[in-house]
Amino acid sequence: MYDVNSKHADDFINHEEILNTLAYADENKDNLALVESIIKKAENRKGLTHREASVLLACDNPELNEKIFRLAEQIKKDFYGNRIVLFAPLYLSNYCINGCTYCPYHATNKHIPRKQLSQEDIRREVIALQDMGHKRLALEAGEDPVHNTMEYYLDSIKTVYGIKHKNGAIRRVNFNIAATTVDNYRLLKEAEIGTYILFQETYHKESYLTLHPTGPKHDYNYHTEAMDRAMEGGIDDVGIGVLFGLDKYRYEFAGLLMHAEHLEAAFGVGPHTISVPRLRNADDIDASSFTNGIDDDTFAKIVACIRIAVPYTGMIISTRESQKTRERVLHLGISQISGGSKTSVGGYCEPEPGDEKSEQFDVIDGRTLDEVVHWLMEMDYIPSFCTACYREGRTGDRFMSLCKKGQIQNCCHPNALMTLEEYLMDYASPATKALGDKLIDKEVLNVPNEKARQIVLENLRLIRENNRRDFRF
Ligand code: SAM
Repeated sequence: MYDVNSKHADDFINHEEILNTLAYADENKDNLALVESIIKKAENRKGLTHREASVLLACDNPELNEKIFRLAEQIKKDFYGNRIVLFAPLYLSNYCINGCTYCPYHATNKHIPRKQLSQEDIRREVIALQDMGHKRLALEAGEDPVHNTMEYYLDSIKTVYGIKHKNGAIRRVNFNIAATTVDNYRLLKEAEIGTYILFQETYHKESYLTLHPTGPKHDYNYHTEAMDRAMEGGIDDVGIGVLFGLDKYRYEFAGLLMHAEHLEAAFGVGPHTISVPRLRNADDIDASSFTNGIDDDTFAKIVACIRIAVPYTGMIISTRESQKTRERVLHLGISQISGGSKTSVGGYCEPEPGDEKSEQFDVIDGRTLDEVVHWLMEMDYIPSFCTACYREGRTGDRFMSLCKKGQIQNCCHPNALMTLEEYLMDYASPATKALGDKLIDKEVLNVPNEKARQIVLENLRLIRENNRRDFRF
């Protein structure tokens, strides 16, 4: 039975409720008065239910769709301004005992080289990432209790935070590892991870069981209830997502929003981020053999509808998408992107030799971080390396309440400018620096009040002239 408050996956991601939602959306997608009323409700920026948002997703009236896109764009501007936060993944290990049929790390893939970074390897990789200008990483690993132990993870986090090289530092480590126990989540929290990220892959239980035929990840309920355990363990920033292409996108969309509703109902705080990865080719994986792939138009509509349905949840798009696709959806609601990414285990400090390729999927946007930063600024976005919120204790419901009141901008905008200035001083190419200096001069005028503006100007001066770093609101 559907119950948003229940602790059981089968209740809060209830199959019948999703089927009823899809039927309701089909019945009402041409009900123009209802669609208009849902858009009107969304204009209050308080979000929509999974049923309401599913009607918008199903709607194929061009004029109403135009309204949906315009509203998504406006909400993105209101909540996130023109800032885009940058990060990179760091793959620690591709040892994995699961059988996920879409992932090249599946245990029966005998030809992919298996690698695990030592703490010394991590040091080298992190220095290479710092030298690019990154301040925020997402650590990734396959599931293998023998190789990838909690002790190894905790050591790795400590290593990453401990490396201070030139003016570089990793200030936020997000973590994407397999579902685990409350006790382990507590340990990750104590190790000061930022967001705990875990993609559901698919909310459709029957498909899930087929797509994950072997290994601990086969347990749908344990996987789906992971965020509840993470929150019980004290992690209040969690990132959810589905891998689009595995099952029908409308089913996944409803499931994703039901998951967000459940976290909000059960813990008073919804997900910090939603990721929207699409399935890609990889070693041993032919994405075209999966029949639920979605085209770029549908992808853009999903991004817009998520933005409208959960306005205060950040949205992430990775280098699985091309420059063109990223350009198309950024303004519809994306708040974070990766740049200069490698999805191999190692490879940031030295490219992997051809016969030792350990990538998780083909990176489509292969530009350098400097190229990505330059491109963002050409489109008038402020690339942000800010990591201040969790370091200032603005996580979970504290973050959400500032976000819902629209006050988070008062911190984010100045922090984006100051961290961009650090990037420009320490890592940018001359052309990127010149473009960035102009952007900062213009954007500093948009700092909300005079006192804050004076502080930002003074801090910018200290960054430029005195080589001082890490100012934050
Ligand atoms: N082992 C962890 C887990 O079980 O969730 C970490 C996952 S993995 C390092 C990160 C994500 O990559 C997965 O959750 C999956 O959604 C995605 N992924 C796997 N294979 C992929 C493919 N072929 N194309 C695109 N993304 C893929």
